[in-house]
Amino acid sequence: MAAKLKAPRGTFDVLPEDGERRAHLRTVAERRLAGAGYGYLETPVFEDTDLFARGVGESTDIVQKEMFTFEDKAGRSLTLRPEGTAGACRAYIEHGLHKLPQPVKLHYWGPFFRHEAPQAGRYRQFNQIGAEALGSDDPSLDAELIVVLSGLLAEMGVGGLSLKLSSLGDAETRQEYGQDLRAHLRANEARLSDEVRARIDLNPLRAFDSDDPGTRAVMETAPLLPERLKREDAEHFADVRALLDEAAVRYVLDPTLIRGLDYYTRTVFEFASAALGAQSGVGGGGRYDMLVEQLGGPATPGVGWAAGVERILLATEPAESRRGALVPGDVYVAVAKPEARRRAFSLTWDLRRRTGRTVSLEQAGRSLKGQLKHADRLGARWVVIAGDDLELKDMRGGDQQSVGDSEELLRKLDELDAEATTLEEER
Ligand code: AMP
Repeated sequence: MAAKLKAPRGTFDVLPEDGERRAHLRTVAERRLAGAGYGYLETPVFEDTDLFARGVGESTDIVQKEMFTFEDKAGRSLTLRPEGTAGACRAYIEHGLHKLPQPVKLHYWGPFFRHEAPQAGRYRQFNQIGAEALGSDDPSLDAELIVVLSGLLAEMGVGGLSLKLSSLGDAETRQEYGQDLRAHLRANEARLSDEVRARIDLNPLRAFDSDDPGTRAVMETAPLLPERLKREDAEHFADVRALLDEAAVRYVLDPTLIRGLDYYTRTVFEFASAALGAQSGVGGGGRYDMLVEQLGGPATPGVGWAAGVERILLATEPAESRRGALVPGDVYVAVAKPEARRRAFSLTWDLRRRTGRTVSLEQAGRSLKGQLKHADRLGARWVVIAGDDLELKDMRGGDQQSVGDSEELLRKLDELDAEATTLEEER
């Protein structure tokens, strides 16, 4: 036998039983985002490597170790996108969206790629829903984006949610702070983990993320960035917080919150769910007022977030898996004898077209008994048996009655469904 093929490490297949929940998440997300004025954007799955090197930042884990990079036949370096903001900014510049009335609000959904060590909730190909508002630094955009994501996660039923919030100030504050933090780390170098020590110059902020006990002790006395914000940045941050308070969104201020991407300025935030294990981040984002300019566009502020589709679904695991099941209330068309196959086929199409119901047809050559058993297992509400005539069987009560033709069948189905609904309401 030929060797079995498997999906690559860190990737997964979405099977039909998961498809419905995914589609539901997408519907909820799009309704909420469109309702707040965020139009749909789709950018390529791969971009010039330079976009991420310049956009995400050379010193980040993403650019240093996690990108899937390859050469095309002309020797150009391309990369499977590890995140969505750089591509959205590239599209904004390339299509002159800065000439439209600002802010320009965009949302996206699709696959992203990071070469990380796979574990529960962490994959090498995963999907994100994201939103970006470009062209205004109004604090109401920061707050609006957080409120939309918070509402989306709540509507999806993500349990044990918490929101961390901080501000990084402007590039100058960050740079000065970086110098002081480096000085603090150097003064305590001996107590740091090798990894943190090796990156003092490149990315000292990452030291706050370390699990190493020695490093953690050093970080307890480290200087904190939000204490050094310039007046305008502190006011901006105070405004964002006041708007979140107004919207009754709860948050915890976390002066050590840093995100794994270099482009952030001012507001940063992260939602986590206690329903998840070690990989508890469900979504996060922040403001990036320098990024568009850094990518060759006009000076343009921006703010956005991305949330992990798989993490949201993991945090809202369904009570039961319905492998191969129909939607309750659906119809199964059984074939009582071979001569009735054509009739059953056209009846199935007729029902699908005219009722909008989900209608399944026997397509595996089972006996009539086998078909009824199969319909039951699928959870069909009604079975239509096509033989010399048509019979309609109620799979809940067991009643079976003859129906003259497909017109009568449609009428009967509607009547019986209405009766069943009334009975349920009376109960
Ligand atoms: P980030 O761009 O790193 O802030 O990621 C935003 C969100 O995407 C995270 O909160 C996660 O929900 C999700 N995410 C990031 N990386 C992965 C991954 N490797 N596998 C699954 N989900 C991820």
